[in-house]
Amino acid sequence: MQKRESVNQQFLGLLDSVAAHLHSLKEEGASSIVADPETVRRLGSAPIMPAPPPRKEPARQQDHGGTGGSLKDIAAQVAGCTKCPLHKTRTRTVPGQGSATPEIMFIGEGPGYDEDQQGLAFVGRAGQLLTKIIEAMGLTRDEVFIGNIVKCRPPENRKPLPDEMSACLPYLRAQIEQLKPKLIVALGATAVQGLLQIETVGITKLRGQWMSYQGIDLMPTFHPAYLLRNPPAKREVWEDMKAVLAKLGKTPPKRG
Ligand code: SF4
Repeated sequence: MQKRESVNQQFLGLLDSVAAHLHSLKEEGASSIVADPETVRRLGSAPIMPAPPPRKEPARQQDHGGTGGSLKDIAAQVAGCTKCPLHKTRTRTVPGQGSATPEIMFIGEGPGYDEDQQGLAFVGRAGQLLTKIIEAMGLTRDEVFIGNIVKCRPPENRKPLPDEMSACLPYLRAQIEQLKPKLIVALGATAVQGLLQIETVGITKLRGQWMSYQGIDLMPTFHPAYLLRNPPAKREVWEDMKAVLAKLGKTPPKRG
């Protein structure tokens, strides 16, 4: 009697494995299998087993190039990142900050000295000018998101290298996916180049012309650091910001 039960157990176990295998084949897209008629006849006389429960798929990360999670998670990943040599010389990582539901996302090149010290994007002189631009648009820094292509300061404020930008880009992509901004303002040619992964012409030619990042309108304009060196270019940036506001159905507030 015990032997018969053991054989039954083995048979049921085998059938269970076959059923699970067929189930997984079906999930992988198989619509038919080749089977020996005699095997099918024998299986037909076997006790009917309940179908195995559907397998639980592990939650999939969204595909944005190798990172995932909430803004906090992304910042935590950035804080521990050693994917490019810039981690060796940074004081603090600068993931970016601002609204979690911004209409506009400003993206610059990389942190400078002040940003590296404070762990915040655009807080130095160029950042203060960016704040003025944002306020002239009738917004506050808390209503937009401000970040950079690379999250660690390049030594001597040099331009980030292509490999450094490529290594860091998944973080920015993940942020954009989370934030879902209506518009992106790319500050300087490096921001355009880093985000779109293209060779760009100079920002003088690019600025003011709408581009697109994964279906999101992108306005290239001058970097505020350039405006500090070349104040007359503020006028062109203001034209670009008016175009950004117009795209959102807004107009800048009247100056008192
Ligand atoms: Fe990582 Fe970006 Fe910093 Fe390089 S710049 S170490 S990729 S967080």
